[in-house]
Formats: sequence, structure tokens, C-alpha cells
Amino acid sequence: MQHYPIFLDLKGRDVALGGGEETALAKLRLLMKTEARLHVFSPAPCPELVQLADEGRLRLVRRAMAPGDADGMALVYAATEDDAEDARIGAIGRAAGALVNLVDNLQASDFITPAIVDRDPVTVAIGTEGAAPVLARAIKADLEERLPAQLGMLARLGKGFRHHADALPFGRRRRDFWSEFYFAEGPRAAGHGEGAVREALHALLARHKQAETRAGHVAFVGAGPGDPELLTLKARRLLHEADVVVHDRLVPGPILELARREALLIAAGKEGFGPSTPQSEINAMITEHARQGAQVVRLKGGDPSVFGRLDEETEALDEAGVAWSVVPGITAASAAAASLGRSLTRRGRNTELRLITGHDMDGFAEADWRALSRPGTVAGIYMGKRAARFIQGRLIMVGADPATPVTVVANASRPDQRCTGTVLGRLAEEMRAAAPEGPALLLLGLAPREAARSALRQEEAAL
Ligand code: SAH
Repeated sequence: MQHYPIFLDLKGRDVALGGGEETALAKLRLLMKTEARLHVFSPAPCPELVQLADEGRLRLVRRAMAPGDADGMALVYAATEDDAEDARIGAIGRAAGALVNLVDNLQASDFITPAIVDRDPVTVAIGTEGAAPVLARAIKADLEERLPAQLGMLARLGKGFRHHADALPFGRRRRDFWSEFYFAEGPRAAGHGEGAVREALHALLARHKQAETRAGHVAFVGAGPGDPELLTLKARRLLHEADVVVHDRLVPGPILELARREALLIAAGKEGFGPSTPQSEINAMITEHARQGAQVVRLKGGDPSVFGRLDEETEALDEAGVAWSVVPGITAASAAAASLGRSLTRRGRNTELRLITGHDMDGFAEADWRALSRPGTVAGIYMGKRAARFIQGRLIMVGADPATPVTVVANASRPDQRCTGTVLGRLAEEMRAAAPEGPALLLLGLAPREAARSALRQEEAAL
């Protein structure tokens, strides 16, 4: 972000503008919505400009801007439609210590004026750092359509009512009041005029004052494999409503950004063999926040019920008498299979699918190796990066075919997704050579699609 968005208070401040044609008028239209004192410098102003001056909307000086004219100005606009003249005005402004904007010259400007959706006092400013003006216009048009015309009125009346609403305790209860006003009661009353909106505000406040405090709750939410578009709609809504989000380290930034800015975000997770938060601490943390009435989202990578120690946390909540629910997510094995374009089950090949873990709390995890070694078996192996040699050894020991395909899918569904096809007999070696960064899932019994095709072709050729 090269340009930092702020809303500048122009009440009673001075703003100078050089220029007297259409470009200048366009800037002035926006500036006239503020409470700034406007000074326009132009040796040959167009008639509209003269009229605005006659109406007292601005002060018109009928000559080019000169050194000294910009003294004390908060902002200086150069809008003369002449590059050299704009540059000269820019220099005058800068020498006077003002922030300078040369219209249509991003490089030489200190600030840019965003595209604006005006529902005063609600103002939406859209900026693209000059990268995509078309995009800014499209977003503006979209918002113009979507934001009700009465939004400004609601915000104005709401602002006047703030001191009443301060009777509600700070935090979620006050927030609930306002969101019900802006998104339900307010728009409903707005059609009947300002009086109706004021009445609605008082009635709503009375109701909220009586309301019992909402009980705390913990939602165990599956964040999926990493692509934010693979979140469920429910996950997205709960994230948006949460007061506290306690998340695994696996959950990437773009998903966490869906939480409200006021929400408390706590990273509390485990990384294979890496730093981790003790389970007892996580249990205590979610219990405590929920007891204080918070809506807690316990956000876990993939599906919370797959190698996520879900039961340990729900049991702790049961003991504490805290209500909870589970929202499933897309597990890594599904995402990995999708990245290969292959099915986890297939008629005539496998009638069962196994999900196993490479290690557990006691180290490398044992599994039913004999069952896994049967031809046609498909298994998703979680946390298998470091256990590759162990898994390979165990499977081959019980008679698995060293030519069994295995695919390592790292960062499934993320921009840095990588699939490496190999065979069981070379798994450990391949894993060491590829050294995938980030979470990786092993798909035992599945080859990447291309490899599968060429193996098939070889078989056909051999026949
Ligand atoms: N509950 C999670 C699994 C947690 S265990 C789920 O349902 O997916 C953590 C392991 O999941 C990692 O070691 C890795 O094996 C796997 N994993 C999670 N996200 C992954 C991703 N995007 N790509 C590949 N593997 C992933």
C-alpha cells in the first residue's frame, strides 16, 4: 500500500486550486461538498467558474497562481490541463508546505483523490493506486446500486443517538444494538421518515437494555485446506461474527482476514515437531473466553474432526458447561485428490479409503500396515513428511509392492501447491530431494493424472 487512506478534516481549512476549465470544475464539484474555503486561480476562468464565484461558493483570483498564494493552504490542486503549468503550481504548493495533487499525474502528486460513493456522513472511498481506474469505477457503480439512499439519513440520526446507546455495556451488546439498527430496524423505518427512525431507535434501545446477555459459545470451524473459496458459507459467517478467533498455524492470512477487525485473533496451534501451544492451555483459553460471553470460533485447518484433537476440546467445554457446535470443512485428502483430478474411491479398485497419520503424540504412528499394503488400497497420509522413511519401511516389510504409486501434495489448494509423483520404494528419497515447504499430504495408491495415463499407455503397449 503506497497510499495511506485517511479522511481529512477540511472544516475551516483553505484549499487552493489552479485551473479554470472542465478539469478544474470536476475537482471543485467534490471539494465543494466539504467545508473548506476554496481559492481558485485562473487568468481565463470558464463561465461556470465565474458563476460559482458569484454565488459565493469560492474565491476566484483572475491570474495564475504565484509564489506565496499557497501559504497556509492544507491542499493545493494543479488542474490547468497544461503539464508545465501544473508542475509550476505543484512547486509553489510544496514550497508552502501544502500537500499537492497534480491532476492525472500520479507520480508528481503527494496524494490522490479516490473514487467516492457519497452517503454523507457515510463516505466510501475507492482507490487502486492508479492501477485500475476501470475497476474503481465498476466498484463504485456496484456500491451506488447496493447502498440504500437512506443510509446517510440513518447514519446521521444514529450519530445523534450515540449518547443514548452508550447506556449499553461497551463491546458486543452495544455492537448488536447498532447492527440491528443499521441492517434491520433502521431500513424498515426509513421509508416512513425521520420521525419513524427516531421512534425505532428508542424502541430498539429499550428492548436491548432488557435483553439478557447472550451466552458464550464455541464453534469448531473447519477452515479447509487454505484456499479461502473452499470455506463453507457458514464458516465465513461465523468468522465474521466472532469476538474471538483461536486458530491453528495452518490457517493462512487471507482466511483470518475474514474476521472482524475488532475480533481478538489468537494463534494457538501445532506444527509437526515445531513450536506448539499445550492442549490444556488451548482448552482453558476457549473455555474462559466463552464463559465471559464471547462468541468464539476455534478455527482448525481442513476438517476439525480429522486429526484435529477435536474431542479433547469439546470434552473440556462439556466439563465447563459451555455450549459448542462443529462446522465441517474440506479435509486435506479431498483437496489433494482434487489437485490431482483423481477420485479417492473407484469401482473395482478400492471399496475403502483410509486416512492415517504419520505421527502422533508418541512419535511415528503405527497403522494396519498389512491392510494398507494390499493392491488397490488408497490412503491419505497426514503429517507424513518426516515419517516417509518409516512408512515406506513398514509397508514394504509387510509385502507392499515397491512400485505402488504415491503422490506428495504440498500446499493443496494454495497458490504454491505442488504435486510430486513417485513410488513407494523411492518415497523417502524423493521426499528428501523434493523437501516440500508447508503442509504436505501423501496419497498412497494414487499417481498424478499424467503419470497414471502414461503407465496405462505402457501397459497397453506391452499387451
Ligand atoms: N484437520 C486437518 C488435518 C490436520 S493435521 C484436515 O482435515 O486437513 C495436519 C496435516 O494435514 C498436515 O501435516 C498435512 O499432512 C495435512 N494438510 C493440511 N492442510 C494441507 C494442505 N493444504 N495441503 C497438504 N496437506 C495438508
